[in-house]
Amino acid sequence: MSDRLPGFSTLAVHAGAQPDPTTGARATPIYQTTSFVFNDADHAASLFGLQAFGNIYTRIGNPTNAVLEERVAALEGGTAALAVASGHAAQVVVLQQLLQPGDEFIAARKLYGGSINQFTHAFKSFGWNVVWADPDDIASFERAVTPRTKAIFIESIANPAGSITDIEAISTVATKAGVPLIVDNTLASPYLIRPIDHGADIVVHSLTKFLGGHGNSIGGIIVDAGTFDWSTGGKYPMLSEPRPEYHGIRLQETFGNFAFAIACRVLGLRDLGPALSPFNAFLILTGIETLPLRMQKHCDNAKAVAEFLAGHPAVASVSYAGLPNDKYYQLARKYAPKGAGAVFTFSLKGGYDAGVGLVSKLQLFSHLANVGDTRSLVIHPASTTHSQLDDAAKIKSGAGPDVVRLSIGIEDKEDLIADLEQALGA
Ligand SMILES: *Cc1c(COP(=O)(O)O)cnc(C)c1O
Repeated sequence: MSDRLPGFSTLAVHAGAQPDPTTGARATPIYQTTSFVFNDADHAASLFGLQAFGNIYTRIGNPTNAVLEERVAALEGGTAALAVASGHAAQVVVLQQLLQPGDEFIAARKLYGGSINQFTHAFKSFGWNVVWADPDDIASFERAVTPRTKAIFIESIANPAGSITDIEAISTVATKAGVPLIVDNTLASPYLIRPIDHGADIVVHSLTKFLGGHGNSIGGIIVDAGTFDWSTGGKYPMLSEPRPEYHGIRLQETFGNFAFAIACRVLGLRDLGPALSPFNAFLILTGIETLPLRMQKHCDNAKAVAEFLAGHPAVASVSYAGLPNDKYYQLARKYAPKGAGAVFTFSLKGGYDAGVGLVSKLQLFSHLANVGDTRSLVIHPASTTHSQLDDAAKIKSGAGPDVVRLSIGIEDKEDLIADLEQALGA
């Protein structure tokens, strides 16, 4: 072997995987088992005491999932990762390590609708208080910092309009406040943006979207950048203080630059329980092998569709960061030079009724609540994903009544344009 570091496409196919040591199987097997036999009593005790790494029980870890974890950690440039049952589970597990009841975290207002719900309602019942900031106004993050702030949460490419977040500027605010920056990198995938290269301390994904890529499995993942010092100021006791259930060890002291991933596994996943099925891990791993090919095609198609829509008389505006006159074009050139993603919005001159009407006339586009599928998808956020918000909040989060969201697939772009043309013209 040469001493060349493998490139992104090579990692997407190989990182974390070896031929199966007992059977020689080349594809990663699905280890469909709940539990794993110990070598002897000492081995069992050392696994339970975190003195040795190994498999115990699939709620805490599984060899198929471990390949997925290593692969995504490699693609994102992190030290370790933890796969969980969904993107939302990843968010719960991350924040559980950081927040005590009564604590706060700052979140960008432009987020996936489900995350806005989760942060506003479910997390409130845990005593975790979200404080909203505007990702287009970096000073709003600075103003939101208080002594109880424990984290900042943003999306790299933000739902629903595909806007690009200035990760480095917000990372500077997080560093100054002494809190980790969490980046939801779902819409970009590491092929387009690697948030850790821009100062993120933790990356989360819904694997359900572009990483799995085929609309067949729900999953989530947490990537530890290994960059944050959890021991300063006693702010993160889960990581810095002795753990009674593990013979008093301190996770940061024992595990160093992958302590956060360990905390998520041995405190979060172990106790909250949202384990990823190894079968889903297998499907998502297979999806990741073609991530670079798919993502480029998604972006190239999205740009062509956005250009078509921008020139159509029924369309009032298109919000796609890959168009040169877009507000986020310069940020897209800096953070996502290979393409500005494949999820974006446009608005129709006919308002709410036109939005609902268009969705019902499209034939090739599927009307459903998902993004990041091989198939092209459409939704009218104001009547679905963002319907729980009041009108002002809808507009602020980019989901006004006239807005339609597309997730562009990997079909032939001419067919996608023809479908939009018939639906807009009819
Ligand atoms: C889908 C999505 C989530 C939630 O992920 P699930 O796998 O559906 O739980 C979180 N963030 C973003 C940006 C998403 O698109």
